[in-house]
Amino acid sequence: PLSLGVLALQGAFSEHQYSLATQPGPVYHLTAIQTVRTAAELATVDGLIIPGGESTTMALIAERSGLWEPLVEFTRTKPTWGTCAGMVLLAQTASGAKRGGQKLLGSMATHVQRNRFGSQLDSFEVELDAPCLAPFDRPATGEEGPLVDVIPFRAVFIRAPVVTEWDSVLVQVLAEIPPSASPSTVAEPVAVLQGLCLATAFHPELTQDHRWHQFFLSLVARQQTSLGPS
Ligand code: GLN
Repeated sequence: PLSLGVLALQGAFSEHQYSLATQPGPVYHLTAIQTVRTAAELATVDGLIIPGGESTTMALIAERSGLWEPLVEFTRTKPTWGTCAGMVLLAQTASGAKRGGQKLLGSMATHVQRNRFGSQLDSFEVELDAPCLAPFDRPATGEEGPLVDVIPFRAVFIRAPVVTEWDSVLVQVLAEIPPSASPSTVAEPVAVLQGLCLATAFHPELTQDHRWHQFFLSLVARQQTSLGPS
């Protein structure tokens, strides 16, 4: 049984709760989906989602509520998934903020550029491939069926960051945005994995596609299994 936490200081946390609550089939035994606002609540979850929102604001609230240090500790040792602002917070360094530096959890060996797509492309959607989702590809009915190669996923970008530098030994790139869909001349990572830390620049919680949530749940479940029964 897994207990999943969604950091609920600010931003799109209820969308993640909804997405988790409507997972098709009993794929994982998710016993609880909890909002996390305090260190005590954080201590009760097996995995954490840091939602989209405003990374600077989220950091400020976390500091004020004594959650910053526990978050640093959690994200370095337990399964964590940062979406959008969450990807920014997990990074070691970030650029593109309007005003000066910002506090970051620094649990991933990445540099992100905030608001990568500027004002014209503030929000947009594009279909991207992520081979890591293949194990979760199922017919729309949610029934067991033959696995299909790679079904693209719909990536929703809202004032999104991208990863512009990363440690290629520690960090695995799971999905990239091609230059045809971005202001860059090279493909740039929009989904990265480092150990138990997953970060995505887009918002799977705003789509009907549950595969990114299932991918993250599989990380949490694998970690639980390796810890043995408690
Ligand atoms: N631009 C925001 C930030 O840098 C992220 C936007 C989002 O999470 N949708 O924190």
